[in-house]
Amino acid sequence: MQLTGKNYIAGATSAEGAETFFSVDPRSKQTAEPAFHNATNAEVDRAVEAAVPAFQEMRNYSSSRIADFLDEVAAQIEGIGGILLDTADRETGLGLPRLTGERARTTGQFRAFAALLRDGAYLRPIINSEEPGQPSIRQMQFPVGPVAIFAASNFPFAFAVAGGDTASALAAGCPVVVKAHPGHPATSELFARAFGAAVERQGFPAGTFSMLQGNGHDVGQWLVAHEGIEAVGFTGSLRGGRAIYDAAARRPRPIPVYAEMGSVNPVVITQGALASRADDIADGLVGSITMGTGQFCTNPGFILLQESAASQDFIAAVTAKMQAAPAGVLLNEAIAVGLESAVEQTKANPEISILTGGEAVAESDYFCFSNTVMQTTASAIRADDRLQVEHFGPVTLFVVCDDADDLRATVDALEGNLTSTIHAEAEELDDIGDLLHQLREKAGRVIWNGFPTGVAVVQAMQHGGPYPATTAPGTTSVGMNAIYRFMRPIAFQNVPDPLLPDPLKDGNPLGIMRLVDGVNTVEAL
Ligand code: NAP
Repeated sequence: MQLTGKNYIAGATSAEGAETFFSVDPRSKQTAEPAFHNATNAEVDRAVEAAVPAFQEMRNYSSSRIADFLDEVAAQIEGIGGILLDTADRETGLGLPRLTGERARTTGQFRAFAALLRDGAYLRPIINSEEPGQPSIRQMQFPVGPVAIFAASNFPFAFAVAGGDTASALAAGCPVVVKAHPGHPATSELFARAFGAAVERQGFPAGTFSMLQGNGHDVGQWLVAHEGIEAVGFTGSLRGGRAIYDAAARRPRPIPVYAEMGSVNPVVITQGALASRADDIADGLVGSITMGTGQFCTNPGFILLQESAASQDFIAAVTAKMQAAPAGVLLNEAIAVGLESAVEQTKANPEISILTGGEAVAESDYFCFSNTVMQTTASAIRADDRLQVEHFGPVTLFVVCDDADDLRATVDALEGNLTSTIHAEAEELDDIGDLLHQLREKAGRVIWNGFPTGVAVVQAMQHGGPYPATTAPGTTSVGMNAIYRFMRPIAFQNVPDPLLPDPLKDGNPLGIMRLVDGVNTVEAL
């Protein structure tokens, strides 16, 4: 399959920009043809201007019609075949087993949203009947309009052109304009073709999907500033997410930005847990820190323990295992440079000890950073917020606390995270409850005796958290509830039945679950 290096705008390819960049193989640092064209401002405009009328058409589509489209996208992604896996492997170094699993997760997300739409209850129809002194009020969820999506570098399938942000925005009924990640432009082009085929086969408007290539911040900034965009989904760095959030706020008409950014994912290990299963925890922790060369937003970057001989033995065991684990491939040069600079900043603090690693593997043929373990004190963490920076790679920091009070004070000082984890024993439940709920305040997901890497795509999943983990802690970017980032509730007061949308009509013609005067029911009024 011949790659073009062009942008994909509402069903047509386009390459008006003179600036180009190349796909790089992180294992060899070699570039590959073709040249990919940065989108121009005019191309960004065209993509959004096609999405606006597409939305005017799509907002009239039934949920089942959109569900058919989502199923078609999943089939088209599968139809790309092995070249998708090989291309993504060449551009990310993530390996075929991981990518095969990620592709299944990606198509699974589209099919799960299709099932959600066919059930219908996701529209959340709520009816309060008219009573003396109170009008009839009926509300349900509606799509917001064209959405800008920023693909992440570390999940070329599941958080990229066809990732969860795109799937949830399309499921909501919103056209998307995706800013592809410059780390995997060829993979992105393959996905764009699959979307194009799905749009054509299902007879959706051409502006339902566009994809813009870009290496540098201009394309993203133009996209967010465009008046036709109504919301933004982003996964990436704190710096990038914050810049896009600020750009959206500077617009004459600000829009919401759902950015999922950095996280150190604190793990607390009690003395009881160490006494009963230190070896198992060390193995699990090292697996979690080094999985995907540590390039997960849920990587455990902060391990909190109380000072003791058992804690020091545990830190030594984790350090030895990290030393023995092979150094993995980093996704691209920007990630390698970013990791090196974050670790340098941390090392500059005199309270930091490097137990192993701490530097880039310069002589390597591939982008590589040594597996790294650092140690510091609880008081150092409380004295310097910069020590809470995310080290996006195979790096962790042990925080040794003097006692239980010191540990609690340090948890209080933590910034927002995607996850927090606690390893403890059943006998400690009476003592640990307050600490667990203190950790709850700092994260979107609390894990008991497990490891944070690995995010199940299920109804109850919460992948979000207080800033700086996200810009919208009330939302999730994984799981079915991700759809509500791109919908908004609208209430109808005393509107006559024939003018109400079907989910709110007296007779409930769609037969979907509704909350009627406080009772969940599928019955007609
Ligand atoms: P990134 O640098 O934030 O880039 C993400 C996307 O945003 C790219 O398309 C990038 O394209 C664009 N972008 C970045 N800064 C921008 C700005 N100021 N204005 C407009 N667009 C901007 O993220 P990344 O390359 O995926 O990874 C870098 C770092 O992000 C990692 O080292 C890690 O710390 C963090 N990260 C976190 C997660 C997570 O899930 N929380 C996932 C991946 C990475 P351009 O460069 O072309 O502008």
